[in-house]
Amino acid sequence: MHTYPICRICGNTKLYFSGHLGNLPQINYCSKSAEEAKHLKKIPINLFFCEHCYHFQLGESFSPEETFKTYSYATQFTPSIRKHGNTIVDWFTEKYGMQKNAFVVELASSDGAILRSFVDRGYTRVLGIEPAANIARIARKNGIKTEAKFFSRAFAASVVRRHGKADFVLARNVLAHVPETVDFLQGIRDLLKPEGVFCVETPYGKNLIDFFEFDSIYHEHLSYYLVSTLQYAFGRAGLAIINIEETNMHTGSLAVFAKRVEAKHPVSPHVAEYMQEERKNGYFEKQLYKNFIAKCKLRIANIQPYVSRIRKQESVLVGYGAAAKANVIINLAGITPETINFIVDRNPLKHHTWAPGSGIPIKPVAQLAASPAKHIILFAWNFADQILQANKDLSRAGKQFHVLIPKPMRITPELLQKKNSFKFYRSLDV
Ligand SMILES: [Zn+2]
Repeated sequence: MHTYPICRICGNTKLYFSGHLGNLPQINYCSKSAEEAKHLKKIPINLFFCEHCYHFQLGESFSPEETFKTYSYATQFTPSIRKHGNTIVDWFTEKYGMQKNAFVVELASSDGAILRSFVDRGYTRVLGIEPAANIARIARKNGIKTEAKFFSRAFAASVVRRHGKADFVLARNVLAHVPETVDFLQGIRDLLKPEGVFCVETPYGKNLIDFFEFDSIYHEHLSYYLVSTLQYAFGRAGLAIINIEETNMHTGSLAVFAKRVEAKHPVSPHVAEYMQEERKNGYFEKQLYKNFIAKCKLRIANIQPYVSRIRKQESVLVGYGAAAKANVIINLAGITPETINFIVDRNPLKHHTWAPGSGIPIKPVAQLAASPAKHIILFAWNFADQILQANKDLSRAGKQFHVLIPKPMRITPELLQKKNSFKFYRSLDV
């Protein structure tokens, strides 16, 4: 276990304790038996705020080695990831003049799904760096050159020695997982050519707070970034933000573009606007984070009674989506296999395993139609529209879907008529 009594970004040793949400096991671990799942080690979810760099962060965590040893892989070759990959190629081409011979490096490149979009559009000089060896192997099998390694400043030097400097560096959904943030960012600066561009995609900490997305708080997510904190962290590594785009990934992420601080790329006025909004709306105040945790605890306390009420009227109750989000809610709310009998998931690697902490069995989605369950708890609420769309026959057969985030409620296909769940949730009164 790793403990961080000091700020991961600025080194401040007087962090403000924002609250304790509960205890969680390794949330992506697939147990081989219900007994093992129930007896996994749990460690606290304690959150801290730094008044110096406004960084909202997790205290204790499992070590990266502990986490990656057990990482369960879900394929990324979905239509939405493909579309997103194309969007990223467009950003680099249209905003920053990416040429076909550009050297593009992606950190935490997973199975290479995003780099595939580059290759398919004629950008062949791509390199993935992926810490999980089994996933890096899959990427290589998919034809994407990938090295299995944790990225750091030391490893950046090795990449530069062997491959030269990069025109574009991409890091999606990784910065929140990195314990040594400034070292990681310094590595990116070292890797970039003088006029190179770095794009980091990370969930926006402001959305976490505003929409009570406490199911994304777990030990793999060490950091919940404001733009202001990112700017500070980048500055410490000799980088500067030049532009920001909002994306629908993970229910509201930011794609933040940065340059080496001395490079010529112009800085968009958006950057200052984001930071002013954060200051104006209280995100620099420690009390906001304390209130957030207190309100999350009230919401968590409402979940178990809601689920139990449904279960009492039925012989079976089923969950949909056994991803990390589900396991966070289940553990924090104290849901057991007596309340939710099983969870279905599309990932075949999770079938016939047991959810960490609770010991709820995980089964294929096909089991839903065969089950007498009338009510389905949709843990993957961020894909609510896609799941309801794909399971229209279940709705027609009278099965009802419920979500627990931002608060427990029944959802209907009509409610989800809007284009995507991201906008849908933003339109709710939370
Ligand atoms: Zn700090």
